[in-house]
Amino acid sequence: MKRIDWSKAVLAALLYGREDLRLENIPDPTPPGPGEVVIEVKAATTCGTDLKVWRSGGHAKMLKPPTLFGHEAAGRIVAVGEKVTNWQVGDRVVANNSAPCRNCFFCQRQEYSLCSNLTWNNGTFAEYLKIPAPIVAQNLLPIPDNLSDELAAMTEPLACVLHGIARSNLKPQDKVVVLGDGAIGLMFVAKLAFDCSVEVLLFGGHDQRLEIGQKFGAAQTFNYRQQPDIPLVVKQFTNGWGADVVIEATGIPKVWETAIACARPGGTVNLFGGCPRDTTITVNTQQLHYSELTLKGVFHNTPEFVKKALELLASQKIPFELLISKRCPLKDLEQVFWEMQARQVLKVALIP
Ligand SMILES: [Zn+2]
Ligand SMILES: [Zn+2]
Repeated sequence: MKRIDWSKAVLAALLYGREDLRLENIPDPTPPGPGEVVIEVKAATTCGTDLKVWRSGGHAKMLKPPTLFGHEAAGRIVAVGEKVTNWQVGDRVVANNSAPCRNCFFCQRQEYSLCSNLTWNNGTFAEYLKIPAPIVAQNLLPIPDNLSDELAAMTEPLACVLHGIARSNLKPQDKVVVLGDGAIGLMFVAKLAFDCSVEVLLFGGHDQRLEIGQKFGAAQTFNYRQQPDIPLVVKQFTNGWGADVVIEATGIPKVWETAIACARPGGTVNLFGGCPRDTTITVNTQQLHYSELTLKGVFHNTPEFVKKALELLASQKIPFELLISKRCPLKDLEQVFWEMQARQVLKVALIP
């Protein structure tokens, strides 16, 4: 293991506001406090949420600038706080970006993603990252030897997707529409097509990403720029009825409305992509009532799905590496955000 000079400051990305991301030297996060550990970040992956937060300069739940930034990472433990008994320096780990309190109204009902005291952790775009005690206790997992750091770093978004799928009322042979060809939409396609015995129709705006959707097993992919009437296309592929399940993975209010228009009577619409603050949508009351639609909001993940996500990644059943466009040193982080903005890259693995 590399020897660390604890007197030296460490490099980390800080978000100051809208499109204002700076790499700075921050105080060394060691020693960790009781129950905490510090990891040396080996790979941190970018995420659509990071892009949204960078563009808007904040996030309602996750963070408030100025703040350490980034939430998907895998690394190696370099220091262990008091009272941490089951981890050792040198362990390869992935840490979720949150942990529930296990105490509040929602936690008592096992609705952990709604926990009103979620402990959040940001700061994966850095050389070192401190993991708070509630995350160490519940959402810190050992990385199996056969799994690379950059793939393990994708545990968090995949956990959100598995949570989303579990809440989608899926049945075998369903026709499922996924709207959005970002990393989250494509993860939905992969899990649905490989593991859920359903037929997936993917809509996106980027041909290269739609190709990844095909490799992940989408039965049909459509570029909405060529076929803008998405509900009509869906009806043509579903005997005129609409999809059994629709998954919205763009976070654009207009697309939420499109998602609802794509569902068959009795169908479920999973409104998964978080929209900008204070936005609203219009729902046709007749359609909602007489078509008995189920509209589901699904947010974030829970410890159960974090474990399942890491297991799925380690099983190597699905080629999730297709989602990683490239690897970059931490110093290129800002450039990477401009490339994400221009949709030139999907996920990037930052290697500090
Ligand atoms: Zn709670
Ligand atoms: Zn993420």
